[in-house]
Amino acid sequence: MMEQYLRIKRQHPAALLFYRMGDFYELFFDDAVAAAAALDIALTHRGKHLGRDIPMCGVPVHSAETYLSRLIRKGFRVVVCEQTGEVAAVPGGKKGGKSVMNREVARIITPGTLTEDALLDARANNYLVSLAYDGGAKCGLAWADVSDGSFAVRIVPTDALGMELARLAPGELLLPDTALSLPAVIALKAERDGILTPLAEGDFDPRLGEQRLLRLLSIVSLEAVGDYAALELSACGALIGYVETTQVGRLPTLEAPRRHARRTHMEIDAATRRNLELVSATSGERKHSLLGVIDKTATGPGARMLREWLAAPLLDVAAIERRLDAVACLNERDALREELRVCLRRLPDMARALGRLSFDRGGPRDLAVLRDGLRAAHEIRERICAADRPDAGEGFGESALPAEVLGIADDIGSQAAEMEARLRDALVATPPLLLRDGGMVAPGYDDTLDEIRSARDDSRKIIAALQTRYARKTGIGSLKIRHNGILGYHIEVSPTHADRLMSGEFRNLFFHRQTLASAARFSSRELAEVAERILHAGERALEKEKRIFEELRVEALRLSETLFRIVNACARLDVFAALGEVARVREYVRPRLDASRALDIRGGRHPVVELFLDEGKSFVPNDCALCLEDAAAENGDAEGENVRGKRIWLLTGPNMAGKSTFLRQNALIVILAQMGGFVPATSARIGVVDRIFSRIGAADDLAGGRSTFMVEMIETAAILNQASSQSLVILDEIGRGTATFDGLAIAWAVVEHLHDALAARAIFATHYHELTELRERLDGLEAVTLRTREWRGDIVFLHEIIRGVADGSYGVQVARLAGLPAAVIARAREKLAALEAQGYGSRPLFAGKEAAAGKGAPPPKKLPPVHPALAALGEIAPDEMSPKEALETLYHLHSLLRRTDGEAE
Ligand code: ATP
Repeated sequence: MMEQYLRIKRQHPAALLFYRMGDFYELFFDDAVAAAAALDIALTHRGKHLGRDIPMCGVPVHSAETYLSRLIRKGFRVVVCEQTGEVAAVPGGKKGGKSVMNREVARIITPGTLTEDALLDARANNYLVSLAYDGGAKCGLAWADVSDGSFAVRIVPTDALGMELARLAPGELLLPDTALSLPAVIALKAERDGILTPLAEGDFDPRLGEQRLLRLLSIVSLEAVGDYAALELSACGALIGYVETTQVGRLPTLEAPRRHARRTHMEIDAATRRNLELVSATSGERKHSLLGVIDKTATGPGARMLREWLAAPLLDVAAIERRLDAVACLNERDALREELRVCLRRLPDMARALGRLSFDRGGPRDLAVLRDGLRAAHEIRERICAADRPDAGEGFGESALPAEVLGIADDIGSQAAEMEARLRDALVATPPLLLRDGGMVAPGYDDTLDEIRSARDDSRKIIAALQTRYARKTGIGSLKIRHNGILGYHIEVSPTHADRLMSGEFRNLFFHRQTLASAARFSSRELAEVAERILHAGERALEKEKRIFEELRVEALRLSETLFRIVNACARLDVFAALGEVARVREYVRPRLDASRALDIRGGRHPVVELFLDEGKSFVPNDCALCLEDAAAENGDAEGENVRGKRIWLLTGPNMAGKSTFLRQNALIVILAQMGGFVPATSARIGVVDRIFSRIGAADDLAGGRSTFMVEMIETAAILNQASSQSLVILDEIGRGTATFDGLAIAWAVVEHLHDALAARAIFATHYHELTELRERLDGLEAVTLRTREWRGDIVFLHEIIRGVADGSYGVQVARLAGLPAAVIARAREKLAALEAQGYGSRPLFAGKEAAAGKGAPPPKKLPPVHPALAALGEIAPDEMSPKEALETLYHLHSLLRRTDGEAE
């Protein structure tokens, strides 16, 4: 047995081997040590190998899923090895020696190829992503969720790979070795270890890819489904091959890969996604993310689609408008929305059931999921059709409903009605979990099965009659015929009656089987015959049920394309209804989108912050008006020159005033609008944004070997290198991670570059009030601030955006509100007063040549004096000093610092 184990283990060195032994999966050697620690289960040992104890641990087969999910979550891969029921030929085995049960790998469980509900998040896709890379400027990216059949592919510029991977959030990434050094791959690995699976170059051969794709889709030419590029074929091929390997030859049911043309989606890089907390908050919680607050979907596929839409807002105005029409319709028509949502709540996850059935891992309940899902889907279709009466609403051309909603009814269609009827007839209301438990097929569906079952039921009646007859015949009223797993059917009497059955006339009728303290057990020829008939009937019934299950399974897979279309249509409806519901409950409005560069949001709110404000506080809405001159000019507005809205807003304001909130809310509103949702505002006009960039808050990446400032500069570099005139940039506190002068200088240069070279729409929040001097030089720059009031030495935040510049940072007041000890606050106030008296804070930091070069430059101002300690430091030559001189210099510098400090006070 160990030889067999070691042979299989050698083929899968990197995975834990779950080795089936009876009712347990056992693990041995290092696998056992690792799994016992990860699962917190007992580590024992069994036998010896090369003179040493073999460590072992095991998990019961019936509860293996729970253990598997814990291992997979911890980043392990697991190979499941099952007994085939045959006896293995033992090479060199002695005759008469113990035989070994044959075992084979049944499945390799990896993070990207999961199908079990227990291992998956119902509301998020788990993508297996395959990256084809040949060292060029472009790469192929294919992604599939084998649990629900979605499959897509696209060509991506290699330098935009990070962005795509951030959008997909892969469960597992397949790649050739050559791609391991790509920065996007290194970043992904640093973020989540254990998700990279390098494959051989040969797996990415495009010709092989084409063959695999043809086989997957059971077609002879790819022409009908799309014109795939070589890199796309490579990526698809490696993915399909990998699924086949891990599922040990079984091909999944996947859609034909959807091709994503470039530039259909807004691009959002990984840092921006994190900063904006789109699908999870920085704390890791979903609840406080944008997705968390808008996800009112009722079904798993709907939730997955909403997440996908949020991750990839659209660029095409017409496509966005189509979605908005549907959301608007369901927002307005409360009764229809509610009716449809009732149906949606009854709609189980057909996609994942189909996924399990396609891997032959499904059970009777998965067929029931299809039955119930189809019933709900058909009901949805009927309701949509019924609502499409010309008198029912405002009207969209010929019909009362928008095309996008009618399309859902069309997609559901009636092609699967026959399947639904068949499943309804075939299955009992709640089928058993496992096929082998029997009882899946409803009475009346299959004549043969009914006959077998009635024979079995008749036999049961015969047994009941037999019991009565035997009791009467023997005069033992308490005689019972019972059944258990070991003896099967048997006659049971109390031990005091045992002798009676073993003597006289009964000796030939009953034969003794077992005597226990509490009972004596017998059988009879007649009983054995009936029991045999029942057993036989049970086996035949189960055989028949298995055949029926298989027929239905095959039929469902044959219809998979139709079923996918239905699932997809219902998911779309779920998303529209959820967005309509959110808009209704939270008073969101329909945004207007166009090809201009305007960003005109009136009364905008932060969708998450507004929901989680402390009791008694209400959110203060704010306007954002960027690039309105352009928009006005394009629209032939004569007043264009005068309207509000420059290209860049420079936002100053005290700590805690709401700067970050304002920055984020505008980005979130744009994302919501372009995904097709309503927005938290009183009105919004948005010139489609091709990319959103954000740099918000300080986060260091110590594991990645990058300091706070380094991360900040890398993210800023990405923005300045990539933003276009159609992009939206939101920057918070650039340059805060370094010394004041460096930081200010960088921030200054960044604003100038954004203004002059990129012409992107931008909001730039800063504590460097000096930057507002730029207003004078840059005509596309507007200074805005958040209104505050001082009241008895405390600051009151009004959270209202107004034109102008903040009159202070109020850092000390905020520190007081935060509870810094009174002594520290008092000392800080003293120090602040002294610094202000010295001119720090009010003195312009950039003047002279810099300002003189600009338009309308303010008069040249003197540079601030250099601190004497710094001047002295500049004089020294460290390499030429003796240790004693160095020490003396240190004391000297320190004394200079103390002296000037004292003067300041
Ligand atoms: P810092 O400079 O310290 O980073 P900030 O100016 O960026 O501060 P935010 O973090 O945006 O301030 O906001 C601080 C808090 O103020 C928020 O957590 C929220 O509770 C509240 N707040 C922000 N904006 C508003 C608003 N428009 N209406 C009501 N409350 C708000």
